[in-house]
Order: sequence, then structure tokens, then C-alpha cells
Amino acid sequence: MHCRRRRRRVLNNSLGAEAPLCGWGRYPVVNCAVATPRDTDDAARLYAGDVPIIARGNGRAYGDAALHSPGVLQTERLNRLLDFDPANGLLTCEAGVLLADVIAVFLPRGWFPLITPGTRFVTIGGMIAADVHGKNHHLVGSFCDHLLWVELLLPSGDILRCSSQANVDLFAATCGGMGLTGTIVRAAFKLAPVETSLIEQWTHHAGNLGEAIALFEANLDQPYSVAWTDGSASAADCGRSIVFTGKHLGAGEGPNGATSSLSSRPPSPRRVPFDFPPAALSRSSVKLFNWLYRRSQRSGRSVVDLYRYFYPLDALLQWNRIYGRRGFLQYQCVLPLDEAAVGISRLLQEIKRHGSASFLSVLKRMGKASFGHLSFPFEGYTLAMDFPATASQLHLLDRLDAIMLEHRGRLYLAKDARAASATIAAGYPKLEQFRAVRRQYGLQGRCESHLSRRLEL
Ligand SMILES: Cc1cc2nc3c(=O)[nH]c(=O)nc-3n(C[C@H](O)[C@H](O)[C@H](O)COP(=O)(O)OP(=O)(O)OC[C@H]3O[C@@H](n4cnc5c(N)ncnc54)[C@H](O)[C@@H]3O)c2cc1C
Repeated sequence: MHCRRRRRRVLNNSLGAEAPLCGWGRYPVVNCAVATPRDTDDAARLYAGDVPIIARGNGRAYGDAALHSPGVLQTERLNRLLDFDPANGLLTCEAGVLLADVIAVFLPRGWFPLITPGTRFVTIGGMIAADVHGKNHHLVGSFCDHLLWVELLLPSGDILRCSSQANVDLFAATCGGMGLTGTIVRAAFKLAPVETSLIEQWTHHAGNLGEAIALFEANLDQPYSVAWTDGSASAADCGRSIVFTGKHLGAGEGPNGATSSLSSRPPSPRRVPFDFPPAALSRSSVKLFNWLYRRSQRSGRSVVDLYRYFYPLDALLQWNRIYGRRGFLQYQCVLPLDEAAVGISRLLQEIKRHGSASFLSVLKRMGKASFGHLSFPFEGYTLAMDFPATASQLHLLDRLDAIMLEHRGRLYLAKDARAASATIAAGYPKLEQFRAVRRQYGLQGRCESHLSRRLEL
């Protein structure tokens, strides 16, 4: 984390002194007391303290989902791999294990996560709590669609195994439930076999949003697809994008037919050394960045390393410092298929009218809705954009909310830091079912975050 803060005194099973803490967007900053339990017994003792607690993984949610004053239970020491069954790719581990560690251990053995977000610096608990989606949601769904079970530590100290067969209601509330049903301590989920650590990528330039959507629809059989959308395009080119599709390369399909290996290593990362000043992200620099990026991407086939394909941002550690100390907001919504073209173009035009431009905008095709009560994905298109956290941008995002709701959309809780509770309630029809589970298991008032209080979850 890169909030300005005093060194935290972190204790195992009791909370340390309060100190400022934030999510990846560095907005908001909240005084939190953190504990890092060594094991589940330690974690259970923390709940016995009667203080409302929220679990925290690696702090990659952008907003306030993993913040709470006072109690934060950080899972970094619940980080053991417990079992792996090579017959079916089933991995059992503790919830604080980092996805980066899963990949480092299993990719050389020919296994890769079925679902991965755009960073590997997330924990398995955080992936379940946000029910994360990857570039393949249109075909295989979200992380929890491949989750066999979780073991959930409740404030009572009980640990319940939840799955699609046992404690089903609690399972549906936990998958995408943003940590509000207790602390996930262990989980079992599927990895997929891969023959190489390479991706065959196709790059397609789209002149506007309609062309981009047509490219997604024409490539629905491709395992992976994602588009970079030019946040600085003019009204005439609104939605100008580059759509990247991809699939894992098979053995022997490498460049020039060479047998490829599983030996990829993540590139040596660089680090953003300081907080950029606000002027660094002016409209003209956003325009220049997007222009350079567009020019650098050649149409056609290429073979790229899996780390470069899935995790380009991980090559630049602490890239959130580019937005400076004031932090930034990621706005991610999903719109249903029949509303996506008009709705997304209205969102982009509203941003233009406001005189803003997102530094990085990403468009993805989503498939069938996931089963979690608060899971984000449903069939349609999702657009994610970044804006500096200023009063003027906050007003803009309120206007985007109104447009998004007119088109029957929904915001992603893992990215949110500022929406109104009514906006979230309008987008999540199963919110009442979620609240009922929270009531039934005595979770309200015991399992709380800054986000849950703000949105009255
Ligand atoms: C660069 C970047 C790219 C991203 N790309 C994607 C993407 O492509 N798709 C996508 O879906 N998301 C994406 N995300 C969001 C990210 O995957 C989620 O926010 C994820 O939840 C972060 O995991 P974490 O371990 O850092 O959790 P944290 O940020 O620490 O916590 C996130 C939520 O999980 C809960 N939680 C964490 N651990 C536990 C636990 N053990 N038990 C119960 N609850 C827990 C917290 O209470 C909180 O509500 C991206 C984020 C970044 C920074």
C-alpha cells in the first residue's frame, strides 16, 4: 500500500494501533487497525473481541471494500498450499495465498488458473469475495463458477464448509459477497491444463464502438478477448478500440513450429518511484498516451508470453502512484447486450462533454450471469475507466451512474469507492436475499466494511 501512513503496529490475533489505509485507487483513506492472524484459531480469537471486522487480502480492490475502522483482518499469513490433485486440477489452499504464487508453482507443471483478473497480485480469498472475471467470461464464467467449496470463519468462531451442496445460501452470498459473510480461510478450486506458457494473440483495430462490438461478437469462440478503448477519441470515432483475442498455444505450435516450453518467468518489474504531480495526467498527456499506444499495436497474429498477455500492468509496480497522492477512481459497469452499444456510447460522450478522458479504458464481453447474490457479471459488455479522484470527476461519475441505470446496468463493487446505495440497489436484484443471509447468520454489525456501511449492504 502506498498511503502516507505511520508504520503500523501489526499484531497476530489482536488489532494494532489505527493508521491510515486505502485500496488500490488510494481513495478513500480510512484509519484502520489491522491484525495478521497466523492461523484460523488466531483469526477466530480476533472475532471474539466483538469488534466489527472485515477481511483484507492484498488490497487490490480499488475503493473501500477492504477498509474498516477499526477492524481489518489481513490474511497474508494464511498462505499455505494444502493439496493438489493432478487427476482433475483441483487445488486446495488457504485464502491468503497469492495468485502470483499459484502461477509460479503450477505453471511450470502445466497448470494455469481457469480465471484470472488483470493482476496476479490478488489473494484467492479476494478473488472469491469479488467473484472475479477474466478475459474469458463469455465462455467459462467467473472464478466462483469453478470453486468447489470454501471454508468460512463466522464471527461466532464456527468454520462452515459452503458449496453448491452444503450451506448453499451462505455459499451464494459469499461468492461475490465482498467479505461480508465472514472470513474465507480455505478454498478448493480448479486449475486448467496448459501445454505452453505462450498465447497466440490476434490484434484487430476497430474504428468505433460498433466495429469493436462486431469484432467481439465475431470472435465469441475465441477463449480470450478484451479491448483497449481510446478514451481520447473524438465524437466521430467514439469507442475506437483495439480488440485482442487469444488462446493458449499448444505444444509444437510455437514460432516456426518449435516446441514451446512452460518456462516463462515474469518480466523484472520496474517501480514508479514517486507520486506524480496532478498535471502529469492532463487531457493532452492522456491523448498522447492513447495515440502512442494505438500506433504501437500492429494488426494480425503474434505469439506473446503469458505474463505479458494477462498482466501487462504488473510489470510496473506501484503504478497507482501515477495518479498522485489524491488517488483515483475506477468506474466499471456492465450493460446488457441489447443496451450496450447505445449505453456505452452515451457514457463516452458524457465524459467527452465534461472535458475528461480516461487514461486507460477496457471493454470486455461478458457471458452468462454468475450465481452469487452480489456477483458482478451478467451477459453484456463491461467498460472500466480510470479518473483522478477530484470533486469534478466525482460529479461526472454521478452523471454516468444515471446513464448507466437508464440502460439497466450495474456497477462493480470491487472497483467502487463513491456510488450511492440506491445506485447499487437498483443494479443488484438479489441484494435483499444477500441481506437476509447476513441477518440469518448474525453478520450485520459483526462483519462490516467502509463499503458495506456506505452502501447499506
Ligand atoms: C490492476 C488490477 C486489475 C484488475 N483486474 C480485474 C479483472 O480483470 N477482473 C476482476 O474481476 N477484477 C479485477 N481487479 C479487481 C481485483 O481482482 C479484486 O478487487 C480482488 O478482490 C482483489 O483481491 P485482494 O486479495 O487484493 O483483495 P482486497 O482488495 O484485499 O479485498 C477485496 C475484497 O475481498 C474481501 N476479502 C479479501 N480476502 C478475503 C477473505 N479471506 N475472506 C473474505 N473476504 C475477503 C475483502 O473484504 C474485500 O471486500 C483488478 C484489480 C487491479 C488492481
